Order: sequence, then structure tokens, then C-alpha cells
Amino acid sequence: MKNIDIAVIGSGIGGSLISALNKNKDLILFEKDKNLGGCASTFKRLGTYFNAGATTFVGYENNHPIKNIFDEVGVVPNILESKIAIRTIQNRKIVDRVANFEEFLTNLNSVYYHKNNRVFWKTIKEIDERFWTLKKVYFAKYGFQAYAKTALFVVELFKEFGFMLFKTAEGYINEVLPNISKEYKAFINSQLLITLQTTSKDLSLLAMSLGLAYPFHKVFYPIGGMGQIIEDLLKDVNIQNKEEVISIKKEQNRYRLISTKDEYLASKVILNSAIFESSKLFLDENIKKYYDKFSFSDQSAFVVYLKLDSKEKLLHHYQIILKEDIPNCISNSFFVSVSDINDEKLSRDGYSITISTHSKAIFWEGLTKNEYEAKKEFTQNFIITEFLNNFDNIKKENIKTLFSATSKTFYRYINRSNCGGKPITAKTIFQLPSCNTPFDGLYNVGDTIFAGQGWPGVAIGVNVLNKELNAKS
Ligand SMILES: Cc1cc2nc3c(=O)[nH]c(=O)nc-3n(C[C@H](O)[C@H](O)[C@H](O)COP(=O)(O)OP(=O)(O)OC[C@H]3O[C@@H](n4cnc5c(N)ncnc54)[C@H](O)[C@@H]3O)c2cc1C
Repeated sequence: MKNIDIAVIGSGIGGSLISALNKNKDLILFEKDKNLGGCASTFKRLGTYFNAGATTFVGYENNHPIKNIFDEVGVVPNILESKIAIRTIQNRKIVDRVANFEEFLTNLNSVYYHKNNRVFWKTIKEIDERFWTLKKVYFAKYGFQAYAKTALFVVELFKEFGFMLFKTAEGYINEVLPNISKEYKAFINSQLLITLQTTSKDLSLLAMSLGLAYPFHKVFYPIGGMGQIIEDLLKDVNIQNKEEVISIKKEQNRYRLISTKDEYLASKVILNSAIFESSKLFLDENIKKYYDKFSFSDQSAFVVYLKLDSKEKLLHHYQIILKEDIPNCISNSFFVSVSDINDEKLSRDGYSITISTHSKAIFWEGLTKNEYEAKKEFTQNFIITEFLNNFDNIKKENIKTLFSATSKTFYRYINRSNCGGKPITAKTIFQLPSCNTPFDGLYNVGDTIFAGQGWPGVAIGVNVLNKELNAKS
């Protein structure tokens, strides 16, 4: 039995950032998998390194929560700027998402012309820029101070955006881009699916702006894989990987953790497990009940990994938008991330490619092994055929390694079958889980908690959690 102050359960982006910020404390980070990073890890299979999920690093710029955390921790990530953040291809038409507004607009107008394009995209960019200047971003519950800071944030939001806060994304599109073509709408929605897990029909104008504007920021490629950034962050952290926490029991003012290897007593527990998976960790009925309140949000990923032997010069990211939905998925687009040709680890003898799209966990449940494998292969083949259709110089024989992952694979490796939490909408905002809980010393972090997914969303939550933690200690 070991006594510790802080136990962090999970080395995803959230668990890693909070551990790095508190590395000088008596802290242990537990990770079930052998690779660190969860959805942002890098793994090796058949001699090639692949990014498991996340491939784009965004937010490493002055006055941004991510850069601030890295600076505080004293880590400089090994990254390379992607001058073209994403190349979208729809019906062979290309739009490059580049940070330069005029360049982007000229390209956009040549493909999806609308007389109000400038107004629309300028507004999106400005709302996003204004959001990142807010000083009081906070969302926590269960205590006077927490509610007071949250209220101050709401006031700040209102002061900055006023009634614009209540505008819906769909309403704004209809108002500013009337008679928008189906293709153009698909271009917008497929980008929202990547960043916000949903389309304009469910979003506020503010959320849509944050989701669409990320390529106006600097977008980076992580050299050596996304997992390398996590490893760099954790270099001075006490880590127990390949050690899963199996159960937790509250005992007076401590938590007893039983892992696959040992037993620990911790004063504070920070869960980086997805909120929907956290109930099963607890032996206490009241804590179980608390976590059971957060109903499962069935948004999952289907990911294809391939090694490509090709001399073709490729960008870091493409988004291919199709006419119809991909079978067994809930999207008509997929995101292709390619290792940089000079990346000695990932591109050692060919490109390492991660292709991802959205699916649902339920599509992969209740199948026999054969049915599951057949369904997976069918989906994979469909995606590969469309991938080859969009790259004239890449042939099937260039593909040297090919396999894919569903919600079941993600569950097996990192205990989660969803990706992302519930999108923040006017309806969900008050039900969102916060970083603190009604139980003293028990905290949450990660993309199923405020403020959401990806490096920027998780980092906002980490900052709030860090303040809550330090207010208590
Ligand atoms: C296919 C895909 C592509 C994406 N692309 C991008 C992108 O390009 N850029 C971007 O910024 N974001 C991207 N995202 C989103 C981003 O990856 C996630 O939002 C983020 O990585 C989630 O971090 P998290 O802190 O919630 O932790 P998670 O990734 O959920 O990690 C949690 C960790 O906790 C561990 N764990 C859970 N339970 C236990 C336990 N009981 N004991 C020990 N360990 C445990 C798991 O093994 C896991 O490692 C993508 C996501 C997916 C799925």
C-alpha cells in the first residue's frame, strides 16, 4: 500500500497536462496502456509508428492556454508548422484552409462562391479571436467560489458577445449565406464534425466560429508523432504505465485505489477516464450514481491506418468530402493525416497515414466475430477506394500495411468507446460535467468535461481544474 497526495488516472491530453503542471507534488500518473496519450498517442505496429487519433496540434501561440501551460511546465514541443492546415477535396474541387484570410477567401470564392463569403468568414474569424482574449474562462460547480467564478465568466461572455451568444449556427448561415449550395454546406459541416463532433444544426454561432476558425491559427505537425509531445510533457512525472486502476473506494478523506499491480491511498483523485466510463470504477453507490447521470454520447471514430510506399509529395492533412455517407459511419467525409516526409520516426520507409471519420459505438455492438470483421473490412475498403479515387498518383499496390480501428478497438486499448463529449449547445450547457465533483478531492479532466475536445478544449478544462486544485491545497 502506497500513500500519495494526487493520483491521476489516465495519460490523455488532460491527464498529462494536469500532471505536468503538478509534477513537483507527490503525484502518480496511472496509464492502462503501454503507450502514453490515449486518443493522442502514437503506437507501433508491423514496424511502423502510427498516430492513434489526434494528428493536428493547434494552439501553440502566444496568449493561448496551450502555449501558457507548455511555458509554465518548461517544455518546447518538437513541431513543424503546416502551412496548409487542411486541403479539402469535394468532387475534385480543392479549397486550402490557410491562415492568410485573403488567400483563403480567394480560393473559397473560386469554388464555393457566395456574395457574402467575406462577411461570413470575417465574422467567424473575429468571434474566434475575441473568444481567445477572454480572461475569465471558467466552469465549475459545487461551491460558492466555483459558482462565483463561473458567473463572472458568463458576465464576461455576455459583455463580449451580447445577444450574439443566443444566435444559432444554422440561423446565422441562413441569414448571411442565403441559398447556400449543398456542396458548400457540406464543406462547412464536415469541418464542424471534426472539431465539434456535430454539424451546424446543433450549434451556437459562437461554437461554430471556434470550430471553423482553427485553421486561421497556426497549425502544427508533431515530429515523431503526437505521442512524443505527451512523452515530452511527462518527462519529469512519476508514471505507472501498463497499470490500470480497477476500483476506487472513498474512505473518510482518502480514496483507496486498487490497480492491476498495487494498492494506493490518495488524498486527491483526478479521473482522465471518459465521464461515461467512470461510474464503474467506484464501489461507493453515491459516487456511482453521480457518474451515471451523464448519459453516454454515442459519437465514435472509425480509423484506418496505412503505410504508403510512394514518392508523391503529400501535405499533412486532407479532408475528402463525398456525396454520400460512408457505410457504418455518420459522416460523408474523412480526414487524412500524413506523416511529414522528413519525419525520421514516422516516415522511415514510407508515409504513416491515419484516416479518421465518425461512427457510432452501437454500429459495432452485438456482432459475431465474423460479422464484426466483415463490417470493418467493408468500411475500410470503402474508405480506401475513395482515398485512391482522390489521389491519382497513388495506387493500391503502394499500400504496404493496412488495418483499422472501431469503438471496440478504442475500448480495448484506452477504455473508451466514444470520442469527444457532448457538444456544448444551449440545451447541454447546464448538464455539462465540470472538473470538480460533489465529492471532496475527486476531480475530472479530459474531453468529456468542459470545455471539450482536442488540445484547445481540453487545455481550457485543465486550467480551470488547476485553479480548483490549488484553491483547495
Ligand atoms: C480519430 C481522432 C482524431 C482526432 N484528431 C484530433 C486532432 O487532430 N487534434 C486534436 O487536438 N484533437 C484530435 N482529436 C481529439 C483528441 O484526440 C481528444 O479530444 C483528446 O486526445 C482526449 O484527451 P483526454 O484527456 O480526454 O484523454 P483520452 O484520450 O480519453 O485518454 C484517457 C487515458 O486514460 C486511460 N485510462 C482510462 N481509464 C483508466 C484506468 N482505469 N486506469 C488507467 N488508465 C486509464 C486511457 O488508457 C487513456 O490513455 C481526435 C480524436 C480522435 C478519436
